[in-house]
Amino acid sequence: MLWGEEGMMNTKEFRRSLRACADVFFPRLCVVCGTRLALDEQQLCVACLHQLPLVRFSSLTENPMTDRFVGIHSVCKAASCFHYQKGATVNRILFDLKYRDNPQVGFVLGRFMARMLTGRAFFEDIDVILPVPLSHIRRWQRGYNQSEWLARGVAAITGLPVCSDAVKRVRNNPTQTRLDRWGRLENVDSIFKLTRNCSVLSGKHLLLIDDVFTTGATILSLCDTLKAVPGTRFSILTLAWAGG
Ligand SMILES: [Zn+2]
Repeated sequence: MLWGEEGMMNTKEFRRSLRACADVFFPRLCVVCGTRLALDEQQLCVACLHQLPLVRFSSLTENPMTDRFVGIHSVCKAASCFHYQKGATVNRILFDLKYRDNPQVGFVLGRFMARMLTGRAFFEDIDVILPVPLSHIRRWQRGYNQSEWLARGVAAITGLPVCSDAVKRVRNNPTQTRLDRWGRLENVDSIFKLTRNCSVLSGKHLLLIDDVFTTGATILSLCDTLKAVPGTRFSILTLAWAGG
């Protein structure tokens, strides 16, 4: 028996001991700097975590991300975790998450984002987390949806439900014409499609989660599709901000 009364090992201690043993034979490395992780570190070392170029929008309701949707969709709140800068080592987080078969880094960073925003009341009136879907082919190639793992991390801290089956992605990328906010035709060549389970989103405030926000075209297309569900409202959270 490993847990129970004084002198016996509890579950947490037991897991910690197992991890310590595993670390001897299979050392875990920081995804950013590559140094060996300490026992209590996960995916990123403390030094890299502290050096993350955090995105600090002064307002969650009016900022460069929400600005992208003015006149198109009403976005309640928007936030991002770190600045994506071309060539920066911090971008290795995204590389690991998307191309090195490491969904766990998404989970760890999802929890980090949730803790970062809890103090700013970001999640207060959110009903459901909706990770941006991947196309079937992309999901099959990667083996997982990286946005879903970010969503799981956020859910682990906030307790919010994650909905992954109400909308599907039918194409990989939005066309450039979608970026013309005034001239575009709505709901034409959308890259997403509602599924028969979409009614669960009715009347809900949705938190759309994605890995990187660049032009906003993907999220714009998702909002276009979701607005066919009555009473939905949107907020946005991304791991990286590459919006300039
Ligand atoms: Zn590091």
